[in-house]
Amino acid sequence: MIPSVLPTYNRVPLSFVRGAGSWLETDDGTRYLDMGAGIAVNVLGHAAPELVTALTEQAQALWHVSNLYQIPQQQKLADQLVDLTFADTVFFTNSGTEAAELAIKMARKYWHEKGEDRSEIITFDGAFHGRSTGAISAVPHSEKMVKGFGPLLPGFTQVAWDDPDALAQAVTEKTAAVMIEPVQGEGGIRPLPEPALRAIRKLCEDTGALLIFDEVQCGVGRTGKLFAHEWSGVTPDIMMVAKGIGGGFPLGAVLATEAAAAGMVAGTHGSTYGGNPLGCAIGSKVLQIVADPAFLDQVNAKAGFLRQKLDALVATHPDTFESLRGEGLMLGLKCKRPCGEVVQAAYDAHLLTVPAADNIVRLLPALNISEADMAEAVDRLDRAATALETPKN
Ligand SMILES: *Cc1c(COP(=O)(O)O)cnc(C)c1O
Repeated sequence: MIPSVLPTYNRVPLSFVRGAGSWLETDDGTRYLDMGAGIAVNVLGHAAPELVTALTEQAQALWHVSNLYQIPQQQKLADQLVDLTFADTVFFTNSGTEAAELAIKMARKYWHEKGEDRSEIITFDGAFHGRSTGAISAVPHSEKMVKGFGPLLPGFTQVAWDDPDALAQAVTEKTAAVMIEPVQGEGGIRPLPEPALRAIRKLCEDTGALLIFDEVQCGVGRTGKLFAHEWSGVTPDIMMVAKGIGGGFPLGAVLATEAAAAGMVAGTHGSTYGGNPLGCAIGSKVLQIVADPAFLDQVNAKAGFLRQKLDALVATHPDTFESLRGEGLMLGLKCKRPCGEVVQAAYDAHLLTVPAADNIVRLLPALNISEADMAEAVDRLDRAATALETPKN
């Protein structure tokens, strides 16, 4: 019999009743150290006091009204994002997938307004943009995501990751946009080298194609800058944000330049919940904290500390780990045994990590995790690896 919860996830038999900072607790009081943060979502940890306050204050005043009306919380968050980034304008969604949908629509509308037949969008192998029909159509090479869900939407071409020649060939006079994660998340914590990002920007400028960054996973302080692309100085025309921006409350956004958003006039797009007062009050607080240069300095210091410990771990366990990669607190351990075994052994050591493609164990902790908790996490990974390496009899 089918479970009452549609069984689209392979869940581990673990459930939590409360959380604080980087720790989660089961109903029998067992504590787990959380290095996954809800897949890069809980940027300030669980039940962050500032966010609890922002949520309860807004919850007592007003949750939802509709985009038929002015929403000051939404206006404030949009102004913050515009002040902090390349963007001139913002649309709020409830998830990354919805942000992908709008990014795709916006790029096509841009060319429609110019009277040009340019609707093709170029994406990359290993990419992940969400699970809607549009977002899976964007990655036709991903059999796991698209098989059985056809016909897919036309107009997407997926090319090899970090292959400038393949990309240059794929971009034609039909190309509306190039869509890329500056650091791939689901694809296995793969940062695109800076020169490659600059080359893509140049290619877009030469051909007119818009550049869309998907910073749903790598954005909001994760790499040590507010947005990952800031390391390279390359800016997009359109950017998708979600995961971390709500700190655990469902919230996403599409940021765009005035030129890229030109076709999105009244009536062309909408969302019932998107930009509601509750979500935006929380997002505003998250952004106020994370965008503080002193906070980002701390993220970089923490990342340096964690990397050093993890490099030592890899060196101690050459039979389990091959290498460490990633940026800031978006780290991946490339494994020499199936990454699922390492994730399971970590569960046994009461440590939460997240598997990814390319046999990677992801570490995406809260951005305010303490040094003591990071050291404890690496100790637990060390125990997990030792258990895997110890012959069973
Ligand atoms: C998680 C993710 C998405 C989809 O976000 P949802 O909120 O799950 O819809 C899109 N792009 C990237 C890079 C992601 O990591």
